[in-house]
Amino acid sequence: MSNANLPENLTTFTAYPQTEQVCRDELSQGTLDIDSFKQNRQRCSLSSCHGMCCHHGTHVNQETAEVIQRVAEEEAEFFKSLGLDLPKEVIIDDEDYEDFPVEKLEWKGLCSIKKTAVKEKHISSIVNDYPRHFKNTSCVFLLDDSRCGLQELSKAKGLHPWHYKPFTCWLFPILIAPGQNQPEIVLPSPETEPWYFPEYGYDGFFTKVPCGQYSECGQLGYILLQEELKFLSEIVGRNFGQEIQDAIANSAESD
Ligand code: SF4
Repeated sequence: MSNANLPENLTTFTAYPQTEQVCRDELSQGTLDIDSFKQNRQRCSLSSCHGMCCHHGTHVNQETAEVIQRVAEEEAEFFKSLGLDLPKEVIIDDEDYEDFPVEKLEWKGLCSIKKTAVKEKHISSIVNDYPRHFKNTSCVFLLDDSRCGLQELSKAKGLHPWHYKPFTCWLFPILIAPGQNQPEIVLPSPETEPWYFPEYGYDGFFTKVPCGQYSECGQLGYILLQEELKFLSEIVGRNFGQEIQDAIANSAESD
């Protein structure tokens, strides 16, 4: 991806202006699955989940891959100071891509065969009920205390905490699905879990981590995830939180 087609005075929110432009172009008409955001969810606690959603790294698009690789090299000293021993190649091709072509499951505006590399981390020995189909690995940017190194870099530079964080990561557990004709913004449930492949012994991803599961004592998804919806709204030029509230109010009136 190149920035050649972007207006010079464009305000950007993240380190990924091309990705923001694709979001504006395609999510401005994207479908918002209102009902899915009425599901109860709760925030995870890093001290108990140990960043298990980062066990496989994260899929990224070409622009994100290039920026992260460059930042890893330019900011090597900063990452070292956090205790991260980054490999030379922090972005790799997904070796499971043939079985799980990510663009069929998640929107290609954010994902491709590229992903962040992983390191060994024996999460199953520290997380209760760690799913058996999750590997004992973690993204190379995951710190020992389960914070994200790219988020810490953003904060250290005085930027928005999600400036360098891949879209797929700060949106999680919100999914942007490919949809039938246009992308769909959804909070996955067990019925809409995109990564359910029992034939491969793979039992799901979004709904297998604590923050992606139903929580009796949690909050409605659109309230709990209002920061994520607000940031996406600012990038896309819609107001997803308001759209959900309006739809709920309208359906209550017509009942
Ligand atoms: S980039 Fe950060 S949030 Fe995303 S998988 Fe890696 S450590 Fe986790």
